[in-house]
Amino acid sequence: MVAVAASGGESVGSVGSSEYRAGLALAEAVIPGSSKIPPADEATYRRALDVVREFHPTAEKAFLVAVRALDAAAVAFTGKPFHALGTARQGELIARWQSDPVLKTPLAVVSLIFRFVHFDRPEVYGTLGGKLNVVRNLEEPRWLAQVHSADAYPDDDVECEVVVVGTGAGGGVVGKELAERGYAVVYVEEGEHHRRDRFDGGAVEAHKRFYRGAFTVGNAPMPIFMGRLLGGSTAINGGTSWRTPSWELERWCEELGTDDFSPSAMRPYFERVESFLQIAPSPRDVIGPIADFIARGCDALGWTHGAIARNAPGCDGKGFCDFGCRTDARKGTNLSYVPAALGRGAMCLTGARVERVLLEGGRAVGVEVVTKTGRVLRVRGRAVVLSGGALPTPLLLLKQGIGNASGQVGRNLSLHPSTGFAAIAREAIHGPAHVPQGYACDQFLRDGILMMAAQPDYNVSGVIFPYAGQRLMEAIDSIEHVASFGLLIRDARPGGRVWREVGGLPVVTYSLEAEDVQRMHQAVVMASEFALAAGARRVHPFVVGRGPLDGERDLRAFRKERFGPSDFVWTAYHPLGTCRIGRDPATSVVDLDHAVHGVPGLFIVDGSTVRGPIGVNPQVTIMATATRAAERIAARVG
Ligand SMILES: Cc1cc2nc3c(=O)[nH]c(=O)nc-3n(C[C@H](O)[C@H](O)[C@H](O)COP(=O)(O)OP(=O)(O)OC[C@H]3O[C@@H](n4cnc5c(N)ncnc54)[C@H](O)[C@@H]3O)c2cc1C
Repeated sequence: MVAVAASGGESVGSVGSSEYRAGLALAEAVIPGSSKIPPADEATYRRALDVVREFHPTAEKAFLVAVRALDAAAVAFTGKPFHALGTARQGELIARWQSDPVLKTPLAVVSLIFRFVHFDRPEVYGTLGGKLNVVRNLEEPRWLAQVHSADAYPDDDVECEVVVVGTGAGGGVVGKELAERGYAVVYVEEGEHHRRDRFDGGAVEAHKRFYRGAFTVGNAPMPIFMGRLLGGSTAINGGTSWRTPSWELERWCEELGTDDFSPSAMRPYFERVESFLQIAPSPRDVIGPIADFIARGCDALGWTHGAIARNAPGCDGKGFCDFGCRTDARKGTNLSYVPAALGRGAMCLTGARVERVLLEGGRAVGVEVVTKTGRVLRVRGRAVVLSGGALPTPLLLLKQGIGNASGQVGRNLSLHPSTGFAAIAREAIHGPAHVPQGYACDQFLRDGILMMAAQPDYNVSGVIFPYAGQRLMEAIDSIEHVASFGLLIRDARPGGRVWREVGGLPVVTYSLEAEDVQRMHQAVVMASEFALAAGARRVHPFVVGRGPLDGERDLRAFRKERFGPSDFVWTAYHPLGTCRIGRDPATSVVDLDHAVHGVPGLFIVDGSTVRGPIGVNPQVTIMATATRAAERIAARVG
């Protein structure tokens, strides 16, 4: 083993010397550089090692296993380790491995990490036309005085009326609605409070500071992304704001035997959220040329399309929402509901992870909080609302063994699986200079397919193509013309499950059904159809080992291909359903008032209670149900 020392002399860990040489050579071959992009080098490789190591020790192990596998393959193919080959031979191997049935997966893993870190290096980001956001002279609103780092909070015991665990779409809203009714609310948030001077657009730092993640175990491993900061996932989301489709609300009513969630019963809650967050479509010029591109393609095919409603009044489209809003235009709960609650006397403890619900005589009376430095605080109240999100909330209940008489805690997970898709338009699109997620084709919503613009910043360009080597460089060379999309499918079945945390990572099982894979294949075909109808020169499906489609002929062939679950590059941002709502304590975790069956004083209000899948981005669904839940909780608490 050799100790690897960064140029400044700072140690970045230890990897075997042969692994080190192999990994570096692979990084250089995955990103060989082009007229637009500086090639990967040692700094890229060291950064990649840092990122996987910091994420989790198992991620580092998996990464190095993939490096070793590719190096061994080089020996098998050529008799020499990868680093000992000439550049041309390395390039040939990379090209060949991209469609090799066995090697395409380890290559996809290492290539993804290299692309992620390399394009985020300021000098590469800058070459493409991006730059980090620098903010000076931040304003100091009065409500800030009520946000306290738990570590610095003077008391170990805090008294209030309602403790809300989490400040995202569920917690942020329920806390504000209760504070406005006069309840003394304390939010307890594991993440920190970040303001727009921290939202500088850096991809690696954003993932370290603002995100929590998980990977599914199943027939197609899928990363699940969630927020860990004040505002929860709403502080790092795209701002897309759909109402729950009426057919999903009707399904809930039927399954639950109630009219409580009918479109007309829910309308006032949607309206309240929409008006508070000033939800409206962004102007066309701020959405950018991708709107015309989608409109043209959809019009040619007779499909419906339109600007997406967003909670971002005044957004200038000049930043990537998923790394935090640089201008404070997007009204995540960090800038809307939580400040409103604090303005009504609520308080928020940050850096405060709830480890346990405090119970007295079986009744929830507060929570035990552990701070970053390990200090323990107790926050007591007449009611406890868990709003940690669809993965953390069931994990908390399962760890403590409460609220699970039904055995349903952690079950029924839906993910709204998504993949990417990029088209090379004839006209310049300049995606990163416009709203990332501003326009959609909604023709197939009822069939469970949603196709939306998804235009990340330049420092994410490397991961919007599932390629390595020269193929990647060629794709990046057309970056100004790239129209990039997210394709999302409604899960065929909410069959995932959250089990427990092991070594700090949630264990989540989820397997795609054959129907899911077919639906995604269909989505990619339809996205290709409208992109080609809009005049795209070429389209890039996110299928591992499959190259681009250059026109109708390639598309006809692609239509007939058969794919398995692991052929697509999947990601998930919308986990739901793991503490499902229902009347029957035998089949649900909370009742129709969001009260946990069998644990008086304990409520759950977040994505975990939503009976997914719902086929659209879920924040407004969660916020509207949280608005309704606040009424019910107030009635219960008295
Ligand atoms: C990158 C990204 C983009 C997205 N884009 C969109 C979009 O455009 N439109 C849309 O509708 N949806 C979008 N979503 C999804 C949407 O943001 C989430 O569905 C929604 O915010 C979930 O709400 P929640 O209350 O369940 O959890 P969250 O909003 O995630 O909030 C949970 C909070 O609880 C905290 N917490 C968890 N456990 C504990 C604990 N033990 N102690 C203390 N605090 C805890 C977390 O740190 C977090 O802040 C996106 C999500 C992501 C990650």
